[in-house]
Amino acid sequence: MRTVYWLQCGSCGGDTMSFLGMETPDMLELFREHNLEMLWHPSFSSGDLLEQEELINTLRSGRKTLDILIVEGFVTTGPDGSGLYDTYMGEPKLALVKDLAHRAAVIIAVGTCASFGGIGNIGETGANGLQFLKDECGGVLGKSFRSRRDRPVINLPGCPVHPAILKDVLCMISEGKMPILNELQCPEEWYSMLVHQGCTRNEYHEYRVEEDDFGGRGCMFFHLGCQGPLSYGPCNKVLWNQRNSKTNAGVPCFGCTQPDFPKEHAFFHTPNIVDVPLELPKGVSRAHYLAYKGMAAAAAPERLTSRKNRV
Ligand code: SF4
Repeated sequence: MRTVYWLQCGSCGGDTMSFLGMETPDMLELFREHNLEMLWHPSFSSGDLLEQEELINTLRSGRKTLDILIVEGFVTTGPDGSGLYDTYMGEPKLALVKDLAHRAAVIIAVGTCASFGGIGNIGETGANGLQFLKDECGGVLGKSFRSRRDRPVINLPGCPVHPAILKDVLCMISEGKMPILNELQCPEEWYSMLVHQGCTRNEYHEYRVEEDDFGGRGCMFFHLGCQGPLSYGPCNKVLWNQRNSKTNAGVPCFGCTQPDFPKEHAFFHTPNIVDVPLELPKGVSRAHYLAYKGMAAAAAPERLTSRKNRV
């Protein structure tokens, strides 16, 4: 039996909602089938504050073994490094995170805020990820931090994280395995492909058949700010609720898995210069892009350009 403690910091609770929405298996089945024991979760644990305090004390002292620490939400260091913007029973969560992280065998940052600071990293909040701030390794635990099992923090970005990813990582850990991580400490299995790959609108993208409103069939890269060609994540590999993804439904990807999320420009808008997006798909050179996109648009088949039906 492996113990799991879920700590919520600066968070909207979206990762919890995502995980609770998992269907096959549901969360309870997952824990039962994989011998995981949820010691505490802020949304569905029923113990009172005294029990919670006692649990934290036993984990901190090492009297109870902590196998997996899951952190949801950014960790604030503000104001002035004190962490007092976010406290638990008068104590900065910053201190609690550090203590539990040093006791845990494996640490999982769920969501972009816990991974990279995310949406909390605006203004004077001092919001950090556990081991990253944006794409720079460090965060509140520091670059050289390793868990009791000599592992870096496993980052599972997304706003929220896809429940299938968290489920798979928990299954692996329960079987004594660990995911292979990329340079941002995200599992390669889930974060080595672009959202663009697998999108049903790829053919429209290739021929630059553009969409300028939500819910249509065309590609949303050129006017509606779709970040699919710039964002790593499995949204079009593993559908949400096993049914759909944002881009399938006609809503642009806004790059929520990326360390620089949220970007400084507005969602749903593509910054352009003379009708060429400022940011091009990963790995594409501007000269090649200018040459082939013009030709591709001219060669677009009528069955794409004359699309009339809505998705
Ligand atoms: S809508 Fe977005 S993800 Fe889909 S093909 Fe266009 S750019 Fe790629």
